[in-house]
Amino acid sequence: MRVAIAGAGLAGLACAKYLVDAGHQPIVLERRDVLGGLVAAWKDEDGDWYETGLHVFFGAYPNMIQLFKELGIEDRLQWKQHALIFNQPEKPGTYSRFNVPDIPAPFNVIISILRNNDMLTWTQKFKFAIGLLPAIIRGQQYVENMDQYDLLAWLEQQGIDERVNSDIFIAASKALTFINPEDVSATIPLTAINRFLKERYGSKVAFLDGSPTERLCQPMVEYITEKGGQVRLNAPLKKIMTEEDGTVKGFLLRGLNGAADEVLTADAYVSAMSVDALKLMLPAPWREQTFFKQMSKLEGVEVINLHLWFDRKITEIDHLLFSRSPLLSVYADMSNTCKEYADPNKSMLELVLAPAKDWIDKSDEEIIAATMAELKKLFPNHFDSDNQAKLLKFKVVKTPRSVYRAVAGTQSYKPTQKTPIDNFYLAGSYTKQEYLGSMEGAVLSGKLAAKAIAQDYPATKQLDKEIAAVGI
Ligand SMILES: Cc1cc2nc3c(=O)[nH]c(=O)nc-3n(C[C@H](O)[C@H](O)[C@H](O)COP(=O)(O)OP(=O)(O)OC[C@H]3O[C@@H](n4cnc5c(N)ncnc54)[C@H](O)[C@@H]3O)c2cc1C
Repeated sequence: MRVAIAGAGLAGLACAKYLVDAGHQPIVLERRDVLGGLVAAWKDEDGDWYETGLHVFFGAYPNMIQLFKELGIEDRLQWKQHALIFNQPEKPGTYSRFNVPDIPAPFNVIISILRNNDMLTWTQKFKFAIGLLPAIIRGQQYVENMDQYDLLAWLEQQGIDERVNSDIFIAASKALTFINPEDVSATIPLTAINRFLKERYGSKVAFLDGSPTERLCQPMVEYITEKGGQVRLNAPLKKIMTEEDGTVKGFLLRGLNGAADEVLTADAYVSAMSVDALKLMLPAPWREQTFFKQMSKLEGVEVINLHLWFDRKITEIDHLLFSRSPLLSVYADMSNTCKEYADPNKSMLELVLAPAKDWIDKSDEEIIAATMAELKKLFPNHFDSDNQAKLLKFKVVKTPRSVYRAVAGTQSYKPTQKTPIDNFYLAGSYTKQEYLGSMEGAVLSGKLAAKAIAQDYPATKQLDKEIAAVGI
């Protein structure tokens, strides 16, 4: 059965991968000339990679890890020491580590918290633990119900003091969703904490050994095409064409460089585009339906990814770092963390700027100047002395609409992969799945969309259709 999928981000590619596994023929149509959507990466004029986002994988990503295994590329995940590392703004140039011992969950995480005396006092640790009890005992349903509160309100309600918020939750909230605790749904950090408390290696971090486009998306394309599917770049969906009964008649693709538009027909259709792109393209009759109407509550959040190349090593740390800076979120020295970006003598810092609402329209030069001011606080030794580290070059990648803005009260608006339209499905990290707006969420959503299609179009139903078509 032919399935047309618009969007070659991780969700669209995962959907195609699981459809070929189920014996179907997906055709993935990507608007741009690069694979990966929010994980897309490019090479600059010197052959250095720059990316849409600094991406890390967690041990608590079962669908992603299974996908790596199925593609035979598991060795491309470079697992780091089991720890979370935070900068200490009050002591510039120093770090506070939560080292997670190799013992069963949740004791490993609890011990890592108890052992850390830089960030939390014993009273704060105690109140924090008590505050988390309902989430631990009552599980995911409690976590989902907490979507009615923003994180700050939830922390206040649990009696967890402001210091825990400023020390840990601002950093976590910015890292997970690119917004601050006064906006983010309490469900988001609670979901992450719950997973970390349940799985022994849940909070362990891995970096890919090269660019996601080449090292993850390309093998997915090879897998899909070897099994009879197709992936087409420069194939933008222009319009979803509908029949009188509202089902999809075809995908109209915009012809590029003077070429005519093309109508592509299939047995089923999937949008694996971002929610913002899909909303612009919804056929008029669908917009009246509650299922699609609710999507108006979902929209992508601004984020900026920065790359700064220096003339020397700024740090030897081979790990993800939480900057705890008001301007920046997480960062890493990719010359240490990623095999293909490795350099023994020079650093390439990749940093996420979030929240980015007030920065997205600023010039690259303004953004870099503000970032350098923050780096002086993070690495005083390299920027305050006479012998200052020299910035060799930089790249700024702005994404005005990235993952959906996970503010309080939005969880229930996330659509399922199966839609009220018989032959139309959704994939994307913004759809209903249990892993936040993440790479894991994108892969799981693609898998769930493929599963829904395989259930609706089992092999026998397809055979009936083929028999009817040849008139037997
Ligand atoms: C800065 C940053 C850092 C991040 N860090 C992490 C991290 O550390 N860990 C983690 O798990 N997640 C992280 N994420 C989130 C993760 O990247 C996303 O959740 C995931 O990649 C989303 O995949 P998707 O397929 O759902 O959507 P997208 O990647 O948005 O894919 C949608 C695709 O649809 C295409 N498209 C749009 N319109 C059309 C059209 N008209 N026709 C055809 N195609 C179209 C787009 O070009 C795109 O390729 C990060 C994201 C960013 C931006």
